[in-house]
Amino acid sequence: MKKNEVEKEVTVACAGSYKSKKARWNDWKWQIKNRINTLEEISKYVHLTKEEKKGLVLTERLAFAITPYFLSLIDPFDPNCPIRKQCIPTSNEGVATEFDYNDPCAEEKDSPVPGLVHRYPDRVLLLVTDECATYCRHCTRRRTTGHAKHVMTSKMLEKVIKYLTDNPAIRDVIVSGGDPLTLSDEKLEMILSSLKKVPTVEVIRIGTRVPIFLPMRISESLVTMLKKYNPVWMSIHINHSKEITADVKKALARLADAGIVTGSQTVLLKGINDTSEAMKKLCLEVMKNRVRPYYIYQCDPAIGTSHFRASIEKGIDIVSKLRGFISGYAVPTYVIDAPGGGGKIPISPKYVVEKQGKKWTLKNFRDKHYEYIET
Ligand code: SF4
Repeated sequence: MKKNEVEKEVTVACAGSYKSKKARWNDWKWQIKNRINTLEEISKYVHLTKEEKKGLVLTERLAFAITPYFLSLIDPFDPNCPIRKQCIPTSNEGVATEFDYNDPCAEEKDSPVPGLVHRYPDRVLLLVTDECATYCRHCTRRRTTGHAKHVMTSKMLEKVIKYLTDNPAIRDVIVSGGDPLTLSDEKLEMILSSLKKVPTVEVIRIGTRVPIFLPMRISESLVTMLKKYNPVWMSIHINHSKEITADVKKALARLADAGIVTGSQTVLLKGINDTSEAMKKLCLEVMKNRVRPYYIYQCDPAIGTSHFRASIEKGIDIVSKLRGFISGYAVPTYVIDAPGGGGKIPISPKYVVEKQGKKWTLKNFRDKHYEYIET
């Protein structure tokens, strides 16, 4: 069979058989229920490499699932496809370096009650489920995601609410997981409404990748419910411009129209988005869709993810090629979430050359030096 014939066959098998069933295709629960999660199934749609086949055997230990929607974005013939590399494992996941951690951000040691991480003075992280729509191969919380062991029950939530009430300095709650948007509207509303009843909680943020993996989840009914709890902010994990499809644009517009403030969080991933061109394209595309590029994360040292880690020099270089060249609103902050629980530390190109008394020598984005005298 010639290459274009093979391509046609796989494309029809991958997209046609699902997409023809349009109504079901647009039903997020159908998408979740019909996720591709075995080597046999994925082999029907993607020409797997030897490394990918080995990686899929490893997923007996590590969660693996892809929504049919996200699968339809994969190039079945290109192992370097940025979508494919993020969700199909390779044998590299079996590699653990001596600097890898099971819990890289040491969340478990800062957990005063189950499901809650309290590290910063005025905000907490609330982990409400360990389920995700699709499992990212670079996931920091891979020690728990997809294990179907954790979901926030009303009993657990009572303890969380008590903790928040006893600690009035907490004004910002980040609802995360897993992915909180894999919960039903009812379950999610039960959590949000309980949080909203704590008078000192001013802002609720939702950390999610669902608008990318499952844009059909961002339904009218979901945003109508979320809107009741405004100010609601949403941090959306977006890694590549190829992820911003027409469906995703529609979902992002729906969120923005409902007054939900959105920001993007991007993980710097070797071979996926670690060039200034790829990152610039992503940041501009994100901004055009009314999402503020918020963070670029250095990839955390979770066990089995070393093949995704670009160097810090590379990260600094990328940011130096964004700042000044595109609007400041489109430039995210590059951070390292310090292993061991130190929190996010911003890493920036050096713009201050020297300080002599009241004279500051500064460097602009074109590498030209200027002086500022304090008076
Ligand atoms: S969506 Fe987030 S929590 Fe889920 S697998 Fe991806 S990185 Fe991990």
